[in-house]
Parts: sequence; structure tokens; C-alpha cells
Amino acid sequence: MDQAYSRQSEDFPPVVTALAGAIRTDQVIGDPESCGVYSNDAYTTARQLPMCVVLPESTQDVVAIVNTCREFNTPLVSRGAGTGLSGGATPLPEAVLMVTSRMQHMGTPKGQRMWVGPGVRNQAISDTVAPMGLYFAPDPSSQIASTIGGNVAENSGGIHCCKYGVTVNNVCALEIVTAAGEVMTLGGEGLDSPGLDLLALMHASEGLMAVVTGVCVQLLPIPPTQKVIAAGYKDLFDASEAVAQVFEAGLMPAALEVVDGNLIQAVEGLLNAGFPTQCGGMVLLEMDGTDGEVEETVQAAADILGRKAMTLEVSRDEAHRLHLWKARKAAFPAMAMNSPDILVLDATVPRQALAPALREISLLAEKTGFRVWNAYHAGDGNIHPSVLFDAAQGQTEAAHQLGAEVLKVCLAHGGTITGEHGIGIEKIDYMCMQFSQQENQCFQDLKSAWDADGLLNPGKAIPTPHHCAEGGALHVHQGQFPHPELERF
Ligand SMILES: Cc1cc2nc3c(=O)[nH]c(=O)nc-3n(C[C@H](O)[C@H](O)[C@H](O)COP(=O)(O)OP(=O)(O)OC[C@H]3O[C@@H](n4cnc5c(N)ncnc54)[C@H](O)[C@@H]3O)c2cc1C
Repeated sequence: MDQAYSRQSEDFPPVVTALAGAIRTDQVIGDPESCGVYSNDAYTTARQLPMCVVLPESTQDVVAIVNTCREFNTPLVSRGAGTGLSGGATPLPEAVLMVTSRMQHMGTPKGQRMWVGPGVRNQAISDTVAPMGLYFAPDPSSQIASTIGGNVAENSGGIHCCKYGVTVNNVCALEIVTAAGEVMTLGGEGLDSPGLDLLALMHASEGLMAVVTGVCVQLLPIPPTQKVIAAGYKDLFDASEAVAQVFEAGLMPAALEVVDGNLIQAVEGLLNAGFPTQCGGMVLLEMDGTDGEVEETVQAAADILGRKAMTLEVSRDEAHRLHLWKARKAAFPAMAMNSPDILVLDATVPRQALAPALREISLLAEKTGFRVWNAYHAGDGNIHPSVLFDAAQGQTEAAHQLGAEVLKVCLAHGGTITGEHGIGIEKIDYMCMQFSQQENQCFQDLKSAWDADGLLNPGKAIPTPHHCAEGGALHVHQGQFPHPELERF
């Protein structure tokens, strides 16, 4: 898809000139070299220069951009920080790319609510309100870079979404600009609003329905105490069963993650941190709350996790808690050191189905001869089976075929084809695996109701019948993860 082209300003399409009149000239980037910075998101296999890049600074700028694009029948792709893993913000050569990075306004927190601009980074929200004892709960590993607009458009999750919900559960209201150029507020600062739940509809809409220009986030009090239990098991299946038992007992961990034995060894090789390399699976469970609540729930969880555990450690203090989390946080960097290429899959299964689904996935791995390693958000049932392969040995197609089989296993267990990375262009073909033609048509009809001319992010997330072949996943080559400064999944 790479496209190199040179263009003089007099060759700019009329819409680019009109945009420079509708906003300021310095908010429009047309030269290919500067546009090249935006030619892909973290789904690096697809690269494309946009027609031009626009940098709105206000809702009024977004209205002017949307109206100009409509007047010239030109598609518009929204982009936050470009950390998306499914190609949602990949430019189109015939489309304007609108980057929200200058829309950084932050309101004043009132009643644990705060309005912020779409270009505000997720981490910046918590940093800003921390002195007031508050934070924003959804914590994607990309939180130091990804924007709240992108988080809404992908309905992003994170380690603590197990207890506090994903983005949609932590947003009270949105300001949007529709494809018709109207400014609308959806939801409100209360808990519920009358009418159909259009606020929820905008979450995970991947820039296809409207442009998000303001987000009213719900803030929570920072929990006074957090403790982690690290429990090692014979294999991943015992670890997954222990996870199911924690929920059956009525406990609600703040975070519940699992890493497999391959990764315990790989992390140990990287950090030499004293993790239990004799174990085939490790559960990391965090409880939060007041001192009393944490003592009680940690004890209850330790009793359950301890039934089949070979090793069990409870964090003694904050430094020890952070140390134990390294077993999870270093898992993807350690994996990258063990294979020239990795296909990171993203899917969900119900928590109770984790053990049987992972068993089937390991059988598929055995049958095909690929190594499939696992580090995942067990509390959400969100798994990231990762296929280790070597593109230079011609293994790419077979790895992708295995990836498709893994997704089929997840669907057969009542799961979904994506957990947190969205559909974009990466998974658009898989939509036909999960949804019937009628269901996909229903998505298309909803899009058309909001965007009759199909100008907002066309060709992403919602398949047309020709898409319904097999698709791909996040491909990491030579250990080079996109956005190396960020934590991993
Ligand atoms: C190392 C790494 C770790 C990650 N970890 C996680 C994780 O733990 N959990 C998780 O859920 N995701 C994770 N991600 C994926 C990614 O960070 C999230 O999807 C994030 O929400 C994207 O935000 P962004 O600002 O980068 O959006 P972009 O990538 O710029 O855009 C994503 C989508 O949102 C649309 N969009 C952006 N802004 C707007 C707007 N204002 N209005 C309408 N549509 C808009 C775009 O068109 C596109 O479809 C990770 C990514 C990386 C690289």
C-alpha cells in the first residue's frame, strides 16, 4: 500500500485549498514528507499517505472541516495518537486525515466528572486529578500516549477494567460533530439519560459514526491500598481454573492477569527476578480498597488460589507489588526476544471457558508445530495467544491461518473476534466469521443513518460481502513492537 508522490502546492486538490480557507493555513499539512509521519497507526503492515492532514483546535474547526469535506464529497479519517492496533486510523489516499492532538482542553473536575478534549492523553487525565485524590480507571497499556478520543472510538480496556469496566462504563457524556456538521451532546453528567443510548453507540464506533470533540469522564477516588498475589501453577489450565473459582466465590479483583510457563521463563531470562520457572502458569491478582477490605479479600483470594498452587506470594509493600507485576509487564518484550516474528491475537472467551479454550489452542499449536505463548487479561476473558514464527522462513501465511483457527476456537466457546484492539482493517474479514450477513447489514444501516454519504472512515470496521475472507492480526517483526515506549497489552 506504500505510496510515494510529490506534489507542489498548486497541484493540491480543491478541497485542500478550501480547508486552508475554512481553518488556518498552518492547520493544514499537504507536503508528503510531513504527511508521512501519519501514514500508519500501530498496525504497521498498512501504510498510506493521506490526501492531507488537518489539525483542528476547537469544535468549530471540526465543524468547518466536516462541512468542507462534505461539500467536496471527500472522506475524512479521524486520528488521535495513532496507537490503534487494528489500522482504524490508517489514512486513505483520497481522504483528509484529521488529527486531534491540538484539542487538549481540560475542564475543572466537578462532582467527580470532568470534560476533556479528544486529544488529551489517557494518563494526563489521571495525572491532572491525582492531587484531588481522583483518577480515571480505564488504563490501556498505551495510556501514556493514547488519547481519550481514541479510547472512546475503540472502547479501550486495561488491566483494571476487570473491576471498573472499560471506557464506555467510565464516560458520562460526549460532545460529537456529526457527518452533517451538527454539534450534539450525548448522555449527561447524571447516571442515565432519556432516549436511546446513543452514548454507548459511539463507543467502539471507530470513527465511523461521528467525530468525538469532547468527553465527560467519570473520576473515581484513588484506592488507599493495593496488594498483589502471585500464584504459580503446574500448567495454564490449573491457573485458568483458579481464575474461574475466584469469580465463582463472589470476589471481585481489581486486576486478574495470567502468564504461561514459557513467558515466566522468558521474563526470568530477561530480568532474573526470581519468578517460579518450574511453573507452567502464573496468576497475578490485585485487590484494592481500604486496608481492612484488602486484608480480607486478599486472604479469601489466597485461600482459593492456594488450593492447587505450587507457589504463592503476597506483596509485602508497594515495591514488592510493583516487582511482582513485572512478571506480566515484561512478558511481551521478553517474548519479542524469542522469535523474529510474532502474531499477537486478541479475542475473548467467557471466563469459565478460559481453560477449555486454551487447551484447544495448545492442541492447535502442537498440530501445526508453532509455539503459541500466552499472557492475558484473564479477569476479562480477554486472551492474546501469540504465534511465534519466522517470516524469512516463509511461515507468515501458515501463522495467519493458525490465527484464524484460534479465533474460531474462541467463537465456538461463546467468545468474540476482538477483545480490546478493535476491528479497523485488520479484523474486517473476520467480522463475517462472528456476525451473519443480516447483522453486518444492521451495522451498515446504523452507519448510514449517521453518515448517509459514507464519508467518515470508510472501509473500516464494517465489512461488505467481498471482505468475508480470512484476515490478520498484529504482526511484530524482529522484536520491533509498534510504539516501543509503551507497556505491552
Ligand atoms: C503498546 C500498545 C499497547 C496497547 N495496549 C492496549 C490496552 O491495554 N488496551 C486497549 O484497549 N488497547 C491497547 N492498545 C491499542 C490502542 O492504544 C487503543 O486502541 C487506543 O484507544 C487508541 O487510541 P489513539 O488515540 O492512539 O487512537 P488512534 O489509533 O489514533 O485511532 C483509533 C481509532 O479511533 C478513531 N478516532 C480517534 N480519535 C477519534 C475522534 N476524536 N473521534 C472519532 N474517532 C476517533 C480512529 O479513526 C481510529 O478508528 C495498545 C496499543 C499499543 C501500541
